[in-house]
Amino acid sequence: MDQEERYGAHNYHPLPVVLHKGKGIYVWDVEGKRYFDFLSSYSAVNQGHCHPRIVKALKDQADVLCLTSRAFYNDALCEYEQFIHEYFGYDRVLPMNTGAEGVETALKLARRWGAVKKGIPNDKIKVICCEGNFHGRTVTVITMSNDPSSYDKYGPLTPGFIRIPYNNVEALKQVLDECGDEVCAFIAEPIQGEAGVFVPDDGYLKQCYDVCHAHNVLLIVDEVQTGIARTGRMLCSEHDGVRPDIVVLGKALGGGVLPVSACLADDDIMLNIRPGEHGSTFGGFPLAARVAVEALKVVRDEHLVENAEKMGRIFREEIKKIDSPWIVEVRGRGLLNAIVTKPLTVHHGSDEKLITAWDICLRMMDKGLLAKPTHDDIIRFAPPLCIKEEELREAIGIIKSTFEELSA
Ligand SMILES: *Cc1c(COP(=O)(O)O)cnc(C)c1O
Repeated sequence: MDQEERYGAHNYHPLPVVLHKGKGIYVWDVEGKRYFDFLSSYSAVNQGHCHPRIVKALKDQADVLCLTSRAFYNDALCEYEQFIHEYFGYDRVLPMNTGAEGVETALKLARRWGAVKKGIPNDKIKVICCEGNFHGRTVTVITMSNDPSSYDKYGPLTPGFIRIPYNNVEALKQVLDECGDEVCAFIAEPIQGEAGVFVPDDGYLKQCYDVCHAHNVLLIVDEVQTGIARTGRMLCSEHDGVRPDIVVLGKALGGGVLPVSACLADDDIMLNIRPGEHGSTFGGFPLAARVAVEALKVVRDEHLVENAEKMGRIFREEIKKIDSPWIVEVRGRGLLNAIVTKPLTVHHGSDEKLITAWDICLRMMDKGLLAKPTHDDIIRFAPPLCIKEEELREAIGIIKSTFEELSA
């Protein structure tokens, strides 16, 4: 911790635990203490830590060929491309590395489509985004954010975005009625993860899709956190029966071992970018290709969609039974859940202490469960999707006793 404090940039504020080892749903600190991992690296570890099949795919390919760039063909990327096409049912994939790059790529695909297919003048193309979004940290991506801690003093930002309230179809309609001719796409998360697992009304995404299509506007869905079984569906968009025009995947696509992201789209959108017009040195490199295929196979073979749905129901049901003045709301889908807390002061004789979500996370950490607050008052609970019922119930016991002991 001292070394990080001294030599690292101060762009994170971690919980005071130093991890050394991980296996499945557990991580161990340097002193050998075991914890339930209820963050799963922001849903990048859906398949569980160090999954033997995913690690084997990584090692096997690492012994043969790691990186070629896209200047040449290799015998791994092609197989990944066909596999992910069959898996998600989109014509094509554009491989990237991080989630933010995936989002950037989706924006470029949409703008290009807007220019080529819709005939919007290059300097007029607009993308509609949502308040409370989180799509990553690059300059164009933070332009979409309305959280000052994301965008402030990083200007000048990228023009061409219109921000509307989330979970408000009327607002989308209004903007598209006003200037739909100049809009190429609407981008949204199906559940706003970083905003605190904010779940929109049923049917919201479907209505957005219909409004977009009535105006010849693409729907980009950022499934970086919600995708790949996390919410009890392979893609969270399925809850609304929506097939987005562009899907952005990341996080768990890399099976918790490599940064792997991707845009999925059909020919009409994907083929407007031609050789030399977009790329990434590492995007779709052989290691990533083998890892992503195995990561997706594991999700299917281990029935993680079904398990996330089932365990998520148990989680919410049990957490809602906790009677605590600190708990304001419990919400989520599948195994992407959150408790909204209220900071409260406790009195011990003449002593007063304000207990916040951060303090609650510290206490859960002491009891062997890791979770991290988002936005000061919200605690997200997102274990690896391979968690079994008895393990989940043990973890729920930790959460329950933590809240109960706050008032004691
Ligand atoms: C994490 C996240 C991103 C950014 O992914 P990085 O790999 O950190 O760049 C984008 N969108 C959503 C919804 C995310 O949760």
